[in-house]
Amino acid sequence: GEISDKRVIDEIIRLSKAVAPQIEILRLRDEVSKRDSLARGLLKFNESLRGIDTEDFWTHLMQVSAELLRAERASLLIHDETSDEFKAKAAIGSAIDLYSAENLGSRIARRAIETGHPLMLADMPKIGIESAPREWRYKTSSFISYPIAIGDRRIAVMNFTDRAGNEAFGQKDLDLLSTIAPQIAMAIDRTKLKTKAGEYEQRSITDALTGLRNRGYLEERLLEEISQARRYRSSMCLLMIDVDHFKSYNDSFGHPAGDNVLKLIAHAFRETLRTADVAARYGGEEFAILLPHTSSEEAAAIAERIRQRVERTEFAHRNVTISVGVASYSNEFEEPKDWITAADMALYDAKERGRNIIRIYEDLGRSFKEKIN
Ligand code: GH3
Ligand code: MG
Ligand code: MG
Repeated sequence: GEISDKRVIDEIIRLSKAVAPQIEILRLRDEVSKRDSLARGLLKFNESLRGIDTEDFWTHLMQVSAELLRAERASLLIHDETSDEFKAKAAIGSAIDLYSAENLGSRIARRAIETGHPLMLADMPKIGIESAPREWRYKTSSFISYPIAIGDRRIAVMNFTDRAGNEAFGQKDLDLLSTIAPQIAMAIDRTKLKTKAGEYEQRSITDALTGLRNRGYLEERLLEEISQARRYRSSMCLLMIDVDHFKSYNDSFGHPAGDNVLKLIAHAFRETLRTADVAARYGGEEFAILLPHTSSEEAAAIAERIRQRVERTEFAHRNVTISVGVASYSNEFEEPKDWITAADMALYDAKERGRNIIRIYEDLGRSFKEKIN
């Protein structure tokens, strides 16, 4: 009947899903070991590593690699460069709890990391390494410990042992590993970067008073945007903003009242800016706004809109205005801080010319720039 048909179909689907990775691995092994289709094999290997979420990334990585080498046991030890210790990230078919093992990797992995060369069993007597503790219950005594490096940073060691069929590992296996090692290194690095990005998100990137981004975040973003803009030749602008006569506002109405002004100004920015723009509190009563993919003309229009928006805001005690300096990014800036300096110069000129105006760096006269320098 219909129900049993559906069951059969479900069962077939379930089986195909279970078998598919195995077939994929067989195909992969075949492809990687054939020199002429190496590029294709690597491509596939890379694909199989992409798009895996971090949760099962390490295990998946080791599964694929262990299957390639036909090793029944494999482990991945990440080398922490700061503490110089190893941490198990994945263990396939292990008899012991690697994740809580002490002095992990101290016998062999460390040696692989230090020399930068893979170790095979045959090397053990040569370098005087004692055999593994009995409770680790290795079936065969053949193993490979393979260091993974990015440039001169050695980031991890992959261990393989207990080869199916009790064969010993050999040069062929090392060759295989050396072809996939760069892919693995990149995949590990990507994941490390992702974790770093997550930590970075959690670190405070927000200014507590105004809710805008803080200075540290802005400076990081400037670096990122500069390298992007260089690559894609897009224009972008930076605004430096300072509150006019703010000291007298504080002196007259008190510091908390001044704080409220800063909050309202931040609110005015948020209402005026686009989502891609990055508004930050740069210092006490100074703000910086990064406008990616924005021409000088557009930036001037945005700056003017912000200036007017603040001018029209109803503050508790009296009107408050801002002065704005605008600088578009130029490849002539040698360092990111030169860009900030340029916007600052324009801001300085706005103050000199009486405040509550915007000035553009490119419009400053040569004599003015010389006077500043
Ligand atoms: P100008 O138009 O030249 O910028 O004059 P100004 O008075 O704004 O400039 P000045 O640099 O002399 O004073 C800045 C003042 O900003 C000093 C300080 O009282 C105030 N300020 C800085 N940070 C804060 C803050 O977090 N809260 C409050 N309420 N005031 C601040
Ligand atoms: Mg100031
Ligand atoms: Mg000021």
